[in-house]
Formats: sequence, C-alpha cells, structure tokens
Amino acid sequence: MDDCLFCKIINKTIPAEIIYENDRVLAFNDINPQAPTHILIIPKVHIPTLNDLERDHRNLIGELVLVASDLAKELDIADDGYRTNFNCNDSGGQTVYHIHLHLLGGREFGWPPG
Ligand code: AMP
Ligand code: ZN
Repeated sequence: MDDCLFCKIINKTIPAEIIYENDRVLAFNDINPQAPTHILIIPKVHIPTLNDLERDHRNLIGELVLVASDLAKELDIADDGYRTNFNCNDSGGQTVYHIHLHLLGGREFGWPPG
C-alpha cells in the first residue's frame, strides 16, 4: 500500500534495521525502543488491524508468533522472559496501521499494562 510506512520498509524505500526476513514476514528494530530488545514483526501483506484478519491469515499470524519465539531464543531473552503484543486501533494504542507484533525483552515488565 503506497502510503503505509511499514509497506515502505518492506519495499526498502524507507530504511530499517532488519533482523529477519523471509518471503512472508519481516522483523526489524523499533525506531523508538521501549526495552533493550524491541523488535517489530510484520507480515509482508498489508493488513491494517487485527480486525481485518480473515481465516486464511491463520498460518501467517502463526508465523509471526513463531518468528518472535525464534528471535527471543536467538537473542537470549527467552529464558528470562519477554513480552509480545499486538495493539489494535486507538484505544489499543495502535499508531501504525499495518499489523505488527511487538517483541520486547531485556527488562522486567509490569502487569497490568498502562
Ligand atoms: P503501535 O503503536 O503498536 O502502532 O506501534 C508502532 C511502532 O512503530 C512504535 O513502537 C514506533 O516506535 C514504531 N515505528 C514508527 N516508525 C518506525 C520506523 N520508521 N522504523 C521502525 N519503527 C517505527
Ligand atoms: Zn502496509
């Protein structure tokens, strides 16, 4: 999608620190990290919010979670623990309307979230 920031990162018209990439997903460092490790894992197809998911996306969404799990192990934050989350729409804190799984680690996280 032409005016989507994350589609531009996928198309390499905007730079990002890419951590992992395959034909279906891309993982890159968050530009404003909220933890020592803060990676965004996104599908390469443009899906604006979790509300737009369809049943055919089940493997793709599963792959985002599996990439988060793999990266957590590779980056050595898996044993201590980490936080993953999707924000959805305004009340959920979403600011970029191309779904993304946040992977945060390297510090303690509180619950409930703010
Ligand atoms: P959310 O608020 O869940 O929509 O998260 C959007 C995230 O994208 C925020 O954590 C931003 O810091 C991050 N972000 C915005 N622009 C960029 C960019 N150009 N490269 C990497 N991360 C970005
Ligand atoms: Zn997009």
